[in-house]
Amino acid sequence: MGNGVRPSRTLNKRSSWGSLLCTRQETIPVSHALLQDIKFFELLLLMDQELATQTRADGCPCGGILHQANYPRKPRGCLDAVRPNYTSRFSFCCSACRKRSTSTSVRFLGRRVYLGLAVVLMTARRAGPSSTIMRLSQGLAIPIRTLQRWRLWWRDQFPQTGFWQAACARFMPSVEMPLLPASLLERFSGAADEPLLRLLVFLSPITVGHPVTLREGR
Ligand SMILES: [Zn+2]
Repeated sequence: MGNGVRPSRTLNKRSSWGSLLCTRQETIPVSHALLQDIKFFELLLLMDQELATQTRADGCPCGGILHQANYPRKPRGCLDAVRPNYTSRFSFCCSACRKRSTSTSVRFLGRRVYLGLAVVLMTARRAGPSSTIMRLSQGLAIPIRTLQRWRLWWRDQFPQTGFWQAACARFMPSVEMPLLPASLLERFSGAADEPLLRLLVFLSPITVGHPVTLREGR
């Protein structure tokens, strides 16, 4: 497990993530290399599997048993090598009332075809796209106009989500909204990749129940 971060440890603290926040602003170096780090994608898969296990164990509110009924995905913005681990979004169907229960996810940000990691990392730079980002967007076949839409989503739509409206008051001082997601990433503490992992865990509730309405170029 890279950098000693174990999924269970990260997830167990999920309910008390507030205590993991930095008390002051720090500049977190954003490692774009993670987008080409297969081990990191495997770690995110393990975390999603753990979230799915929890969803299934919770069962349906009606008392029925949940059966696996994953959503197929055709992920974009990732290396071919990680694609096999990202072809389905974990979801369940109740055996009694047929209602869906979809797990929260650190891999997928809502119904987007692009992975959450790409949406965060490719836009998490205060000063805007660098030459590294431009090179990566070419390598991962993410059009520049898609990057621009992601930036607009962080600026205009994310602040309006019920998720953020409920969570924003926990950040003191308040997060600099025009600098999302960099200004949000900076609030999560930890060594190496931990702030990023914690941000993905923090964002995971937005992946269910709050549809992400961003249009994406195909
Ligand atoms: Zn049910």
